[in-house]
Parts: sequence; C-alpha cells; structure tokens
Amino acid sequence: MTQPVIDLSPKVSDEIRKTTCYMCACRCGINVHMKDGKVAYIEGNRDHPVNQGVLCAKGSAGIMQHNAPSRLRSPLKRVGPRGSGEFEEISWDEALQIATDWLEPIRRENPEKLAFFTGRDQSQSFTSFWAQSFGTPNYAAHGGFCSVNMAAAGIYTMGGAFWEFGQPDWDHTKLFMLFGVAEDHDSNPIKMGIGKIKARGARIIGVNPIRTGYNAVADDWVGITPGTDGLFILSMIHCLMKAGKIDLHYLAQYTDAPVLLNGDENSPEFGLYLRDENGKQLVIDRKTGKLAAYDKPGVRPDLSATHRAKGVTHRPVFHQMADMYLSDDYAPEAVAERCGISAKRIRTIAAEIARVAFDEAFELDHAWTDFRGEKHATMTGRPVSFHAMRGISAHANGFQTCRALHTLQIILGTVEVPGGFRFKPPYPKPATAHPKPHVGVNAGAPLNGPHLGFVQGPDDLALKPDGTPARIDKAFTWENPMSAHGLMHMVISNAHAGDPYKIDTLFMYMANMSWNSSMNTRGVMEMLTDKDENGDYVIPRIIYSDAYSSEMVSYSDLILPDTTYLERYDCISLLDRPICEADAAADAIRWPVVEPDRNVRGFQSALCDLGAKLDLPGFINNDGSQKYADYGDYITNHERRPGIGPLAGFRGKDGDKSGRGEVNPDQLNRYIENGGFFAEHIPAGANYYKPWNMAYQDWAVKIGLFDAPQPYLFSLYVEPMRKFQIAAEGHGDRQPPDHLRERIKATMSPLPIWYETDQQGNEGYTITALTQRPMAMYHSWGSQNAWLRQLHGRNPLYLPTKLMRENALKDGDWARVISPHGEITVPVMEMAALNENTVWTWNAIGKRKGTWALDKDAPEATKGFLLNHLIHELLPPKGDGLRWANSDPITGQAAWFDLKVKIEKAAAPSESQPVFDEIKSPVGKGPDNLAWKVGK
Ligand code: SF4
Repeated sequence: MTQPVIDLSPKVSDEIRKTTCYMCACRCGINVHMKDGKVAYIEGNRDHPVNQGVLCAKGSAGIMQHNAPSRLRSPLKRVGPRGSGEFEEISWDEALQIATDWLEPIRRENPEKLAFFTGRDQSQSFTSFWAQSFGTPNYAAHGGFCSVNMAAAGIYTMGGAFWEFGQPDWDHTKLFMLFGVAEDHDSNPIKMGIGKIKARGARIIGVNPIRTGYNAVADDWVGITPGTDGLFILSMIHCLMKAGKIDLHYLAQYTDAPVLLNGDENSPEFGLYLRDENGKQLVIDRKTGKLAAYDKPGVRPDLSATHRAKGVTHRPVFHQMADMYLSDDYAPEAVAERCGISAKRIRTIAAEIARVAFDEAFELDHAWTDFRGEKHATMTGRPVSFHAMRGISAHANGFQTCRALHTLQIILGTVEVPGGFRFKPPYPKPATAHPKPHVGVNAGAPLNGPHLGFVQGPDDLALKPDGTPARIDKAFTWENPMSAHGLMHMVISNAHAGDPYKIDTLFMYMANMSWNSSMNTRGVMEMLTDKDENGDYVIPRIIYSDAYSSEMVSYSDLILPDTTYLERYDCISLLDRPICEADAAADAIRWPVVEPDRNVRGFQSALCDLGAKLDLPGFINNDGSQKYADYGDYITNHERRPGIGPLAGFRGKDGDKSGRGEVNPDQLNRYIENGGFFAEHIPAGANYYKPWNMAYQDWAVKIGLFDAPQPYLFSLYVEPMRKFQIAAEGHGDRQPPDHLRERIKATMSPLPIWYETDQQGNEGYTITALTQRPMAMYHSWGSQNAWLRQLHGRNPLYLPTKLMRENALKDGDWARVISPHGEITVPVMEMAALNENTVWTWNAIGKRKGTWALDKDAPEATKGFLLNHLIHELLPPKGDGLRWANSDPITGQAAWFDLKVKIEKAAAPSESQPVFDEIKSPVGKGPDNLAWKVGK
C-alpha cells in the first residue's frame, strides 16, 4: 500500500525574532517565528539564561494575547458617566494635550495632587524616575498588595529575597522546602529546578494549605492552617536550637548573632546594637576576650560572651534568640493544634532538615577570601534550600513570618552556600545600601529623591511637619512604618475619603483596580463613581493606560492605549527587577518584533512625550526640546550615574564594555543580535558567600552594581524595628499616636515572632478563603486568551471533603460564601488535598460582562467569580472613629489571606452572584471563532 508522504519538517517561518516573554513575570527568552510579516508561533529560546528553551502554556499562548480582540485601538476620552464604558476615540495629540492640561497646573501648584501608581509594571526604575521628575510623593507599583512582606523581610534580614531575586542551588540541594508557593515569578526556573533535583533523588516538602502547583509534585505535603506558618517555622527553630543542630560558625562569622545589645533598661538605646565610634557593631573577640568591631581583621566573634560596663551587662543577640526560641511556647506540642500539624510531624521535619544540612554537608574546592581578610581553602555546602511566596506573606503577620523563615535558613547556615539559597545580582544588598523614602515636595520642581526605600528608624518616616502622612497611601507612617513598596490597595480608598488629603488626578498603569486588583470591588467602583455635593467626581480625574479593554478602562476618563509586549521596546534592567541567575548578572530587552497595527503607543514612550510636554527636567534638553524620542531612546541614552544605564550589556562606543561604560548608540541592536539578552558570569570563587566574599564584592563594583565593596552581617535582629519600639515606649522626638503605641510595641519585635492577626469582627466566621494563581494563567491577562480560556474558563470554589460533607454538597452544587463584609454565591467542587478548614479558588478568572471583548454569556462572566467582593481594605470598625487598614502593621502589605468566611448550601442561581451591569465595550466583542492561518 502506498503511504502518504508527510513533510515532517515543514517550513514554519521566514524569520525568527528573539525577544522576552511577558505572559508572566518570569521573563523567559522566546523565539518569535515570523511568516509573511506576522507572528506564526512562539517557542522557547534555548540559549536564554532564564528558561534555556523551556516554554510554558502561557508563553506559547502569547500569540493569542498579541492578536486578542480585546486590544485597545486608540486613545479614548470618556463621554458617558464613569463606569458606563462610553468613550470616543481621539488622537494622540489630543490625548497628550488633555493630560498636559490636567497635570501642568498640579505640578505648578501642588505636585502631591497627582497619585501615580503602576500595576505589574516591569519598568519601575523608569516610571519612578518620571514621577520623581514630576515631583509627586505619590508613586509606587503594586508590591504593597502583592508580596512586599517577602521582599522587605528578605532585604531587612539578609539583603535579598526569594522571588526572582534568588534561587536554590539546584545543582547541589538535596532537600527543598516550599512555603506558600503555588506558582511564582520564577515560574519556569522552578519547574526546571524541581525536575533537576527530583532526577537526583532529592526530596521536596511543600507547605501549603492547598496541594496544587509545585506542591502537587512534592514528596511530602504539609496542609498547614493558613496564617500559622510563622508558628510552625519558629517551632522548628525551637527544635533545632534545642538539639544543637545549628551552624555556630556561620552564625558567629556572618550574622549579627554575636553582636552585643545595649542592656541598660533605663537607656533610650536599650536593645540597640553596641557600636564603636565609627558606628560599627561590636562583638567580643574570642581570641582576646575584648570588644572589637565586627569586621576587624582576624576577629573571631563570640556567640556567648557578654560585656559588663558601668554595672550593666550587655548580651549578644544570640542570647536573646535562645531566651525567646527555647521557650516552651514554641515547643511542637504547644503549636501543633493551631498549625494543624502534629507535634510528631513538626519534630520529624526539623530532624530531617538538620540531618541533610549537617550530616550531608560537603566541601567544594573553591578558595575564597572573606571581608576580614581570612583565606578559606574550601566552601562548606549545606544542601537544604527554601523558597516561599505570597501564601505566607499576604497576612497581617506576614512580615514576621517571612523573617522567621529567613532566620531558619540562617541558623542552618544555608544561605549563600553550596546547596543552599543563593542570591542573584544585584543582590545581596543590605537594607542600609538602599535609598530611604523621600517626600520633599516643591511646586514646579522634582521630588527630593526616590519615593520608596528602607527606613532605618522613626526619623525616616514619610510625615509632614505636622505629623500627618505625606503620601496618599500613608506608606512609611506609624500605621505601617516599613512599607517599602507603598500601599497601592489604599490609594483609591484614601483619595475618596480625603484622608490624609484629597487629590486631583489618579494616574494608573496596568492595574485593574475596579475589579480583581482591589479589595472591596463593589466599594471601589462606588468610590470611583461617587460625586460630591457639586455633582463633581470625588476623585476628579482618572488617567489610565492598559493594552486591553479591562474593567478599569471603563472607570477612567482618559485612556492611553499601550501596545502588546511584542510591539515595543522594553528593558528588564539591573536597575529594576532583572533576569539574573545566581552565577551571572543578566538583563534583557523586548523590541518591536511586529509594528502595531493600531493607534497605540508603548506607555513608557507616551511618558517620554508627556514628560517633555510638561517640561519635566529629566525629559527635556537644555533648549527645552524633547530629550527622549521614545522608550528605546531612553533605554539607550539615559544614564542613572555616569556610565551606568538601564542596560548593562554592550556599553561603550564599541559595545565592548559590561556594566559600566559610556552610551552605545547601537546597544539595542547588539542585544537583538545576541538573542535579546546580555549575561556576564560571576568569576569562579566569587559565586558563593557573596555578602562576605571579597572576590564577589570587587566584581560587583567592577560591573557597577555598587560603587564600593559593602560586606555586611545578616540581621537576625532588625535594629530599626527596635527603634520603632523605643519610640512607642516614649523615647525620642518623633512619637507615634497613642492609639498605635501598644501595637508597635507588640508587633515590631526585632527578632521574629508570631502573633494572631486581628480577629475583631470575625466572630462566627471560621473558614479561611484563599486564592491561587493558575500555572496556566497569570492574573487577569489570561482570561481573554483564546487558548488559555480552554484550560481555565471558570473557577469553582474548592472545598475540602469535611466541609462538603458537613454542608451536604456535591460537585456542581452552589454555595453562599459569606464574610463579615459581603456575600457571593458560587459553584463548588470537592478537593481532598486541602486543609480541612480552608476553601479556595483560582485568582481573577471571573470577568465583568462587557469587558475583555468577551461575550456577555462567556463562562468567565457567568460562572466565574472573584473572592475580592468578600474582602475589605479596612478592618471592621472598632468604635474609635479610626480607619484601620486590612494590612500588615509593619509593611502595610494587603492581608488578602486573612479572609474568614462561612459557607451555606444555596439553590443554584442562573449565574454566579453578585452580578454587575454589563459595560459598553470600547472594542466590541470578539468573534465566536478565533482562528486564522499565517502564511500559505
Ligand atoms: S514562565 Fe512566564 S515568561 Fe516564561 S514562558 Fe511562561 S509565561 Fe512566558
């Protein structure tokens, strides 16, 4: 029989263009196959340091994102009431003139009347530069409602965080423990890493109330009670300290454990580090028994010695740790019930961690020299690594929980060592090397410095001279002193309340605040549409930029339509959130692999135009002409410091310099030729022990990560937190309001603690309700994607078997889910691998009718739903007349996962409740069938 001849290698493309994926925050390298000038398909770039060719479902589905019917097509001016979706298309000239007419008087008279907040923006070093030039103190990205607890706890404790800022040593780790991670920014690298360590027979323990994502392939799943991770971790620390299974050498040499604390209870410096005349932390040198600066050459810090002076005994941090963590309060038996993990299991896991860290320790033949000048012939490996994300941080006790996890890593001596957790450049970088927040506002002038940063004590709070908050989101105030990423979730609520002041214009980018990016979604819609006694909107003007017809578009007055990620220049910069690996500094670009076929402009390019029209100093030349034609021009020519620009690669006029070097006009082309990225490897002998390794420190200076070596000690004890406690105890000129004193004293312990979150108003609501991000979809972006919708077109509420039985529910039934704030009615489904007092659903599948070019009967709009309706941005009123944010009291992180509900079986409604009116779509509705063929 004649067999048909099949072409097994058909020509699929005319050309391959290499750029960077933006279907999630992982930023993998992609090969975009072009045929007849169109995107034919997308594959992973095998040469790329992040993904080495691996591509996920989202990444391949980028073609549907690029061709989505929901793409905005032109600048829009609102013509109907806010929320109606009634717009008219206008030209870019008119759009930029309207924005200029609104913003120019604000800048001239009072720049704080502009609130400029961005969502999943990957150009924060640029957008913050723009906001700084404008002069408003009111800028932040979405970190405050995402995972600032994780970032801030990492940086304050050890000068770097998980996320994309560090990674396990996949080549050597033998035990990998995950906390609160379903899917992460470091998406493909974690999948690849898990594959690698599983192939080697390493073990994975997943701690998560829900067994999904990475936890689904863990060897051991710990279905912890939400919000108790800190207690579980501190109990393991108790077990390890009690068993003596801690790395005393590491603690003595590289951490503040031996640093002496002022023991004088009558001193306003009680509990602060003892320092020498140069401000250096003091330890007792084991060789001499005398006080010495921690970094003195040859010093051997003593973990146990005390210092007695003027009748006062000053003890090291390590003593306080022993006092605190050896307490029976943290014994497994004391915490087991609360955590939902048996005491035996807690002890078993602690013992397993200790066994691998110490019994399977190994040496790498890497000679290195530490910051005290001591030479080491080898590097000691402790093959235990950890990773954590929003699950442990989105609670009002999340900052201390994340700090507890870092403490666990550090006492095991498993940070920046072979087999452990490793930083990615530009980290490690201690909190003291970061800027402090700036709020110096002057009419018609730039802000006096960067908006966000790391406070070192009450003097750095962002307060006006009268003590009121300087920022609209009340970041860096006594309510949340260490709010390193701002509080985006409070901006609309505070602006509507005029607390601490009223604003004129709300300017947002990629932040779906009238839907899945807000707590209290209905309330936010009301705030955005509320009018004052004169009939004017309470928030007078809203400018918004998005590439798609999202829910937030219809609540805005002026829309600046963005491009898709395949139509723009972008940089993934070392000044921002780069794509580095633990062994290499790396950055990347996006570039217009296709030109837009609509009247849209990359948001950053629009900011270059707007900045010039507003005469912002960073955006005009001396003669007043526009400085940067577009974002590509800025990426190439902007210098943050002499020789340091957004991109580190191919600098210098010949493109042969890395890190530091003069501007190279051909830089973007060199990136394109190189596959869209640049990487420089860390030299051998410099790639572990980075905070203390002089070879790394010198290399980091050479490539411009910092200007001078900055070795430092890990901070098991975060001294700035003690400074806030001291203020709350009544010392110093800057004093907290009385109603916050006790909370500051209780929560801002400089050593990690666990505390129950504020449960006032939750009486009778005993079930925790959570969301997770699907691996095949990233927030709301995927809900419009024709391929990804087939994987997640609706989102049942998953209930554990116990709750299904108790409520006589079966798959497909409906339940009313009630919180102290609101109520939803949704379809349910049973899930056995779930903490028995927890319910959950996928994040951001539900859509408002009329948005994202979806049919009004689409499953996302009829069966999909949001938990956001149940969560409020404020805690229930306490009767004191004050507005208490539903946030971590230290960082202000939105406490999404403190939500408590109760469940009742309900008759099946025709669609998920609540239902909101259909919005008129500015882009119409997509076709019923979305299919085309590129090429012949
Ligand atoms: S992990 Fe994220 S960046 Fe990487 S291919 Fe998937 S969607 Fe793209």
